[in-house]
Amino acid sequence: MSEPLLRVCDLDVCYGTSQALFGVSTEVAAGSVLAVLGANGAGKSTLARSISGLVPPTAGRIFFGDTDITGEPAHRVRKLGLTYIPEGRGIFPGLTVIDNLRMAVAQEKRGDRAGAINRAIDLFPVLGDRRTQRAGSLSGGEQQMLALARALAVPPKLIIADEMSLGLAPLIVESVFRSLDEARKSGITIVLSEQFVHRALSLADTCVILTRGRVGWSGPASEAGPEIIHRYLGEVDTDALVAD
Ligand code: ATP
Repeated sequence: MSEPLLRVCDLDVCYGTSQALFGVSTEVAAGSVLAVLGANGAGKSTLARSISGLVPPTAGRIFFGDTDITGEPAHRVRKLGLTYIPEGRGIFPGLTVIDNLRMAVAQEKRGDRAGAINRAIDLFPVLGDRRTQRAGSLSGGEQQMLALARALAVPPKLIIADEMSLGLAPLIVESVFRSLDEARKSGITIVLSEQFVHRALSLADTCVILTRGRVGWSGPASEAGPEIIHRYLGEVDTDALVAD
């Protein structure tokens, strides 16, 4: 494995007086995929948000490459090449598809913007067909593709994808995972927070399972077998619960 691109050391995160993460440590090697698993409320989104600069930790440190990004605001973290796709997609529903893509590349040099938008549309041609449609009127799967296209238009070093498959039909889930796999093959490091355990593990190299805000288990994804899944995540095979 190569050097870690992301290192989270002993992270505590609180919402007011309520603590959501307790001493969480994990790391992701450059070019690899980390699956963050856990039941509802285990702290997956909190971990994603605090790495992305949206929720400041109360203790611990976060390193992105050699840079200490602990407590850095989200826009600065993004600038370093760490893109967060929030649960709920993080698109602008009132804007058209093309305007959503324009906003995603607005920080780029003027001459680079059109190329970046075209690259994003090449990834998901359906977005080209719908360029003048309001993002909020796209289907759930198309909205998710738009979220990924926005994230990949200017290729980041690392994507944190939070519950991308939530509420999507099985075929769309397939295509979202295929896109993530493509992103990985192009060298992008991925942190995947998921309730769809088996799907996430099949893409991931390593895995961390959160239980009530703590690391319950971590190790190679290939070692997260049925016994581990059962012990830390219970009976539910959430892959069977993909909504239509
Ligand atoms: P889910 O799969 O349901 O999205 P999760 O594993 O992503 O769950 P989090 O959303 O990180 O879990 O929540 C972890 C804990 O922090 C929960 O107890 C939750 O109620 C609490 N929490 C999350 N966001 C906030 C907030 N903005 N204010 C107060 N408490 C919060």
